[in-house]
Amino acid sequence: MLTSIVGINWGDEGKGRMVDLLSADYDVVVRYQGGNNAGHTVINEKGKFVLNLMPSGVLRDTVVNVMGNGMVIDLKHLCGEIERLTEAGVSVSEKNLKISDKAVICMPYNVLQDCMEENRLADKKFGSTRRGIGPIYGDKYLKKALRMGELFNMDKMKARLKDILEWKNLTVKAYGEEPVKYEDMVAYLEEFGGKLKKYVCDVGLYLNSAANEGKKIMFEAQLGALRDIDFGIYPYTSSSSTISAYAPIGAGIPNHKLDEAIGIMKAYSTCVGEGPFTAEYFGDKAEALRKAGGEYGAATGRPRRVGPFDVVASKYGCRMQAANYVALTKLDVLSYLKEIEVCVGYELNGKVIDEFPFTDALDDCKPVFKTLPGWNCDISSCRKSSDLPKEAYDYIKFIEKAVGCKIKYVSVGASREEYLVMD
Ligand code: GDP
Ligand code: MG
Repeated sequence: MLTSIVGINWGDEGKGRMVDLLSADYDVVVRYQGGNNAGHTVINEKGKFVLNLMPSGVLRDTVVNVMGNGMVIDLKHLCGEIERLTEAGVSVSEKNLKISDKAVICMPYNVLQDCMEENRLADKKFGSTRRGIGPIYGDKYLKKALRMGELFNMDKMKARLKDILEWKNLTVKAYGEEPVKYEDMVAYLEEFGGKLKKYVCDVGLYLNSAANEGKKIMFEAQLGALRDIDFGIYPYTSSSSTISAYAPIGAGIPNHKLDEAIGIMKAYSTCVGEGPFTAEYFGDKAEALRKAGGEYGAATGRPRRVGPFDVVASKYGCRMQAANYVALTKLDVLSYLKEIEVCVGYELNGKVIDEFPFTDALDDCKPVFKTLPGWNCDISSCRKSSDLPKEAYDYIKFIEKAVGCKIKYVSVGASREEYLVMD
């Protein structure tokens, strides 16, 4: 059984908490793209965790966690994450963590490059997390990146590093910065790569056998459909493929097909960073929603942009993710509202459209809102759909119909048990 858990919106839909919940029935959890720009928050009996690189299955003792070839790995950051987990009593060993030999290493000079460029762009910046993700994916496709498997042959790796640095420093110098020192980078690879080497293997081989043996494998995505490099709001996207179709490739088993995709969709909209965000709220309305949802980035602490649920964007997200069904998250956040707005269409050149347009057109789109009655009471203790106030039930059903995808799970709080299954 191969299942992907993917974001329907702009990210931060609550994928981490749903992976933590649903991984109870799974043997393996795989991250297949992205890097430590991810921030997946999980709250369970072990405590509160924000995972950046580590698959969210690490909090279950029975799950094997895999970091796939589609990922870009900041070695120092991963070492820190493993240390923090270990301190919190979560064991990490070769038994429950496997890192693809083909995963790419995000180097300190990639982080530097990300910062130099965001600073140069100043008020035209992209809202990058400044963690080197864009630059290292660029290097990967330019074939100027180092991979985890190279750590086993340091002599060869060092020779490649030397060539890459010669090239990279042309850029660094052009920004007026000090060139990156070869010795520093060798020391970095030896120290942090050395610690991680024991986890590195051909994960494709492992996953292929696991899949053939009928093990249950879950693929955990970072970000959402609208941040996918091809199908998102380019250039305000991430630099990787966040869609479920990429999961078997980024994991290392392109010879296998997904059995199902579960879309994680938020009961309202949030977006971190720049780019068009049609249904955005501003002022007091925004502040109230941001506060109610605690919408500050898990990876960066940045206040997230917020707005009501966006039918146009979410319907597109469900299609791009090939979602078989949806988990609607953070419904409890809307409990403070007497009336709830939903963006049901975009007005473009005097016409109302309901299909997500090409990114450029989004600049001219105005949201069309519909107002639904709120429930205006605490729903965090609801554990089945019949516990929900009628208005909350109707809100779920309205959204389900509008996006054309079954809503199976609804979460009403951040903790593992705070959810219900729809009838
Ligand atoms: P991810 O990146 O998709 O894993 O999501 P994030 O962890 O960045 O953001 C989701 C945030 O919402 C986290 O702070 C979660 O603890 C919190 N959260 C998740 N589900 C719920 C929910 O049902 N209700 C509330 N109130 N908070 C939730
Ligand atoms: Mg997040």
